[in-house]
Order: sequence, then C-alpha cells, then structure tokens
Amino acid sequence: MGKIEGQKPRVVLVPFPYQGHITPMLQLGSILNSRGFSITVAHTEFNSPNPLDHPEFVFLPLPDNLSGCETSYISSLKGISAMNVNSKERFHEYMVEMLEKQPQNGLVSCIVYDNLMHFVNEVATHLKLPTVVLRPNSAAYLRSLQFIIQLQADNLIPLPEHQLQDAIPTHHLLRFKDLPFPVTAEIPKILIEFFTSYANIRSSSAIILNTADILDHESLTKLQQHFKVPIFPVGPLQKMAPKFNTSLITEDTSSITWLDKQAPNSVLYISIGSIAIMDKKELIEMAWGLANSDQPFLWVVRPSSVSGSEWIECLPEGFEEITRERGCIVKWAPQKKVLAHPAVGGFWSHSGWNSTLESMCEGVPMICRPYFSDQVVNTRYLTHVWKVALELNSLERKGIEQAIRALMGDKEGKEMRQKALKMKQELELSIQRGGSSWNSFENLVEFIASFTQQNVKATMIPDSSD
Ligand code: UDP
Repeated sequence: MGKIEGQKPRVVLVPFPYQGHITPMLQLGSILNSRGFSITVAHTEFNSPNPLDHPEFVFLPLPDNLSGCETSYISSLKGISAMNVNSKERFHEYMVEMLEKQPQNGLVSCIVYDNLMHFVNEVATHLKLPTVVLRPNSAAYLRSLQFIIQLQADNLIPLPEHQLQDAIPTHHLLRFKDLPFPVTAEIPKILIEFFTSYANIRSSSAIILNTADILDHESLTKLQQHFKVPIFPVGPLQKMAPKFNTSLITEDTSSITWLDKQAPNSVLYISIGSIAIMDKKELIEMAWGLANSDQPFLWVVRPSSVSGSEWIECLPEGFEEITRERGCIVKWAPQKKVLAHPAVGGFWSHSGWNSTLESMCEGVPMICRPYFSDQVVNTRYLTHVWKVALELNSLERKGIEQAIRALMGDKEGKEMRQKALKMKQELELSIQRGGSSWNSFENLVEFIASFTQQNVKATMIPDSSD
C-alpha cells in the first residue's frame, strides 16, 4: 500500500476581487479548512484580502497591472478582461511550483474559482487539474442569465413593452421585467458575450452555489437538468463559516455602540452595498423620506457612492438638525453584526445577494431598492416568493416615507417580519446536521476528496512494505 507523504490536501481559491464575491469565497475556504483542507488564495492586487485576517490561509498575489486604474474601469467589461489576461501567467507559474512541490507541501485537490476569473480554466486545463466554480449569487439569477441568452439566440430582443409584466414561461416566478438586464432594447453584442461567458462553467467538474434548497429549489432543479455536473447548494455560507472579518473596508464599530442605545426593532438600517451608485437627487429624497418618517435609522453612505459627491456634503440643509437625535450615518458598517442587533427592525437594501442572505439569516424584513443585475431578480424573490420584503415603488420623499412606515409600523410590516423570522429558522435548520445545505456540504467535501485520491495515484510514493 502506498501512502501520501506530507501535508493535508490543498484547495486553491481564486475569487473575483469584489466584496460580494470575495466574502463567500473566503467563507467557503474557511469551512473547507475546518474540514481538513489546506487553503491557498490566489488574489489580484486590486481589492486584495488582508492576509492577517486569515492566518490559516496561504495568499498568493496576482499582478493584475491595474494599479492607477479607476474602479469603474476595473468593474467594466474591459477591466475584467484585462484582469484575466494580466493574472494568467503568474497564476500558471504558481500552480506549476505547487505541483512540483507535491506531495511534501500537500496534494492539490482542485481549484475553486469565481466564474469571472475564467483564465483559471485555461491554466487548469493545461495542467490537467480539476476545477469547481463558485457562484456567489442565487440559482434563479443564473437561470435568468441563461434565459436572456436564449431570447437573444431566438431573435426575440427587443421585446415589446407590453410583454414586460408577463411571466417568463420557463421561469414563472419571474416576469420579463425582472430579468437582470432590460430586454426591451437591443443588447450590445459585447454584453451578450459577457453573459454567455458568465453563465458558462467551461470544463468545471461541479458548481457550488451560495444558496439553499429552500430558497431556490425550482431553479436548482432546472440547473441540475441543464448542467451535467454536480451542483452543491451550500448556503448561506456566512452561517456555516466561523465568524471572521472579510471586509475590504474598515468597519465603523461606533454604529454598534449607537445601536446599543436604541429600542428593540426600532431602527431602519440602510445600505446599498459595495458597488451601487445613486445620484444626488435620490440621496436628497431619501434624506427627506427618512426625516419625515420619524423612524430611527443607521445609514451607510459609502464614500463616492453618490455621483459627483465625495460623501454626504449634498445632504439637504436642515436634515442633520431634524434627525440628530435618531439618526446615525457611517461610511461602512459591520453589516452582519448590525443585522443581528436587536435594535434593527428593517433593512433598506439594494438587494445584493449577500445582503439578502444576511438579512434573511437574521429574520430582518426589507425595503428593496434594486439598481442592476441580480438585484432585480433578488427583489422579485424577496417580495413575491419569500414575501419578506416590499419594493420601493417611488423614489420621491412621500413614497419613501410611506414605504418606511409600512415596513416598520404597519400590519404589512409585521406580517413580513413574521415571515422573515420563519425563514431565519428554516435557514438555520438547513445548515444543521441533516439539513439540505449541511448534506450538500458533506457531499462537496467527499467530492473534493475524491480528486485528492486521483491525485494520490499520480504521485504515490512506494511504501517500504510494497
Ligand atoms: N457590507 C458591509 N458593510 C456595509 C455595507 C455592506 O460589511 O456597510 C457587506 C455586506 O455585509 C455584504 C457585502 O458588503 O456581505 C455586499 O455584498 P452584496 O452581495 O450584498 O452586494 P454588492 O456589494 O456585491 O453589490
């Protein structure tokens, strides 16, 4: 019998460098680590995670050559493409070095990568290493992307306006209006290519989704019919992973001290995530809506998230004076702690997938103000499938005030809170032993371990007894 010499099997993670993508990747790494895998994170220099927050991981920087570029460029299609081109060579070198040091430094089981980092596929194919894709969003979103691609292939875009309210025949929980990109105008070819690339898992052996069967059952079933590889819905990862910092921005913990002084369920927490941008008019209407609602609030205004402003200098005159006693504005909050705080009774959110999961994990009902992409799909599910949120229908101060009153005070809000608490319990059950996400994670661990076994055969060292 041969034996593996050296360390634990190793999983290499390659996240896409945005907060909403890095967080679930690191959480996945931390759970895999607790299950006996060594973890290496190959990351771009842009938005690099802090190695000090994860002493148990090995970090390998990839020279993305993007320093000095605007964030808007980095998030553009050209920026993503440049990141893929610039990171590939060094990643290839790292992997070759790692394979040469096998088995002393641990056998490489597989590479888990974010689909936006598609250069990984080329490197892995060349080195004959298995890959698994991690998708940080819902199964429903992935299906909605596939649907847009199909509409385009069938020459049905642009769709007539009157069809927007119709349910999508193959995805009846969504209307055409809820697709992540408007389909009533021509979609540029470059965008369709991008959607196609993002929905394509290339030669990956499996897909990991940060979702749970109870949230996404129908879409998961359909995806499983479409993709011929195993799908592992292992979410919500933030509940499965030990608590550790994944934030790329310094969190203002004074927000928690402020919450400590507020009454239970009284505070509306407001955040539009790490990427969305609003215009000055929206900020001003939000401010008056909040002021007129009489509700306590904790408001995250990310620097540069209001176009043409550095921070909150364009808040209307008088707002600060009216809300001083019941409002707190910060640049970035420890969101998971905020949502878990007993004083928080509602969450005004852009409906990013991480924020959606974090809110549901704490039983906090939401006001949805989606900006783009999966936020639109998530909003439809939050409001009409799980029924734990209401959508903001007006960006005028009166409509905003009414929405806040409805969520925080009315019968409608109370019903949503009850549903949100029930959802919290169900999600907790899904990650406990025997729950769907728990089982899925067990299967994932076995699946990755099977790669290690295959790799063992390739690097087996003869035992003296052989
Ligand atoms: N977040 C945070 N502090 C804030 C605002 C956001 O820690 O003040 C975190 C939030 O907990 C979530 C992530 O940023 O994990 C945002 O991810 P999401 O998918 O919701 O939205 P995105 O930023 O990708 O649009």
